[in-house]
This record gives sequence, C-alpha cells and structure tokens, in this order.
Amino acid sequence: MTKIRAAVFRDESLKPSLEELELTGPDEGEVLVRLTATGVCHTDLKVAGPSGRSPRPVVLGHEGSGVVEAIGSGVTDITKGDHVVMTFASCGQCPSCLNSEPAICYSTDHFACTRPDGSYYLQGNEGPVHGDFFNQSSFATHAIGKRRGIVKVRKDAPLEALGPLGCGIQTGAGAVLNVFKLQPGQTLAVFGAGSLGLSAVMAAKIAGAGRIIAVDLHPNRLQMAAELGADEVIRADDGPASDRILGLLPDGVDFTLDTTSLAPVMGHAIEVLAPNGTFGFVAPPEETGELTVPMRHLMKARKIVGITEGNSNPEVFIPRLVDFFMQGRFPFDRLIRYYPFDDIEQAFHDSETGTTIKPVLQMN
Ligand SMILES: [Zn+2]
Ligand SMILES: [Zn+2]
Repeated sequence: MTKIRAAVFRDESLKPSLEELELTGPDEGEVLVRLTATGVCHTDLKVAGPSGRSPRPVVLGHEGSGVVEAIGSGVTDITKGDHVVMTFASCGQCPSCLNSEPAICYSTDHFACTRPDGSYYLQGNEGPVHGDFFNQSSFATHAIGKRRGIVKVRKDAPLEALGPLGCGIQTGAGAVLNVFKLQPGQTLAVFGAGSLGLSAVMAAKIAGAGRIIAVDLHPNRLQMAAELGADEVIRADDGPASDRILGLLPDGVDFTLDTTSLAPVMGHAIEVLAPNGTFGFVAPPEETGELTVPMRHLMKARKIVGITEGNSNPEVFIPRLVDFFMQGRFPFDRLIRYYPFDDIEQAFHDSETGTTIKPVLQMN
C-alpha cells in the first residue's frame, strides 16, 4: 500500500480537490510509477466537465512520465528505477494488437476507470475512488499502469517533458507518420494548431513534406506553426480557409488533419483534398457526432479515417519520438509550459482558453 497525493474530481466542475489516497498495488502485470510530470490533454477537460463520460469520484490524467517504483508479478522486462512514459493499454490478443496496432484494440475501454475485474485500487477518506483512467490516472504523485501501457525511455532525455508523448503528441505525430505515412514531397494541411496540430506539423517536416499549411484562430499558435515548419499559415477568421488553401494548391492537398472537431471545419478539410487524398480526424464533430459528406467528391479515391492515438504502437513509436527530440528534429518541448501540481486548476484554465498550448504539471 502506498500513500499518494492525487487530484480527485468529485463533481462536474473543472475544480478537483487535492487529497491523500491509498493506492493498493501493483498487482500482476502492473507497474507502479512515481510521477515526475503529467501533461493536460483536452480529453481530461472534456471528461472532467459536464459532458464527461467517466464515473465520479475519479482521478484523471493520462500523459504521465516518471520513474518505476515497483513492478507486479509477471513483469520481467522493466525494473525499479527505469524512466518511463505512461500511455494507453491494450489487450494484446485481438487482431489489431496482434498486428502491432494496439491503438485500435478491439476491447480496451480507456474510460472504465476500474481494473478489468471491476475492482478499485484507490481509496479515499470517503470510500473508493476511480482510477485507471486511460491506464494511468496520473494527476497524482503515483500511478499504476498495465505493462503494455508503460514505455521505457532513454535516461538522458528530460523526463519532465516526455508525458505528452503518451497521448497528444503521439496522436498528432502518429497521424502523419503512421496513418498518412506521408512521403517526401507530399502536402499536408492541419486545421487547429494546438499540440496535436503542431505535432503533425513537426512530423511532416521530419517526413520531408512538400508543403505544410496550418489553419488556426490564434495568431500565437500560427506563429509557432511557422517556426516549427509550416510553410503557410492561415487565419481561420480571415475568410474561408478552403479558398485560401486551393489558392495555394489548386489540385488540392494530399493529407488534411482536423483537430478542431467542428463540423464546418471538417467539411473544409474534406473539400480541399486532392484525388487519392486522405482526411484524418481525431474526434467526431462536437455537437451531433455527425457530418454530411459529399460522396461524389470521394469517388477519386479520397478517403476519410478516424485516428486514435495516432494509430501508434507506443513501445516502438514513443522511443522514436524521443530520439527525434534528442536530435533536435522534434522540439515538442516548445509547446510546454510547466505548472506546479497544486496549480492544476490554473493549468486547466490556460488549456481551455488556449493561452498555453500544452500545460504540464510537475509533481514535486
Ligand atoms: Zn489525451
Ligand atoms: Zn487488443
């Protein structure tokens, strides 16, 4: 049993209470991590708010990085003291997992917030608290994750920066490198230049994209996009982005990525696709979950694909992103602003307003 300090969401406000909890584990196949830092992802905000789909009380957080404190039975290839990034879990047995595509696992529910047998490993003063959010619940000093969602990383990399590789950053970079498999000279347009969109821009740069276009409302994000490799930046409130994009690339764009979840924006992203082009999105349209698609436009092999966690195999992909970072080719740390753990409310606020692209909470 370990005493931990965690941010507990007891209602639907974005205001957690910092509480001392008792953590039981690690059980078989689990790893206990002492967290160094945890990134704040939009999914945390969504789940913490009124439309949240997780039970209460719950500890959220799913971009943790830290040091292995203990391992459960059956874990043989990770040891105490290893530096790790926590990420999503997967079953290991379904056709996707067997095909090294655990991000599209058939059976794992990232939002169940209990162990698979329904038991709790977190206890508060008033009873059990839900954990295991995205295999982590890492807005805490310690967290437990299943081995398949724990990725060992090199020790010379700055551990406090690496947590966001477990979700937001690997989603944006994976969209380009794993899903689109962008080839040198091909073109990309990203709609929404937050941490996902900007990670996609950096990844496209690495892949040798011919032209990278970023669309956003915030001038500071567009400035960042330009610095990270976007060739053209477009203010979304400056007339229809699709007109501007087709002005630059009359044949259309090879790949478009939506990170806004706004139906009209997604429509534009499909409209500007070149023949054989692919539109990727990371979440369905916010209001209805639906989109009207001009099917005739898809006849020239244009494609639509939903992207989960960049369709990455984290065990391979996260160390690769760390290597890119250490080589100076993937400077995702420029998106980060650090906050002390106690300032979690402020970090949520700054993420919501867009003042900070990627807030990261430091646990000590
Ligand atoms: Zn996330
Ligand atoms: Zn699976």
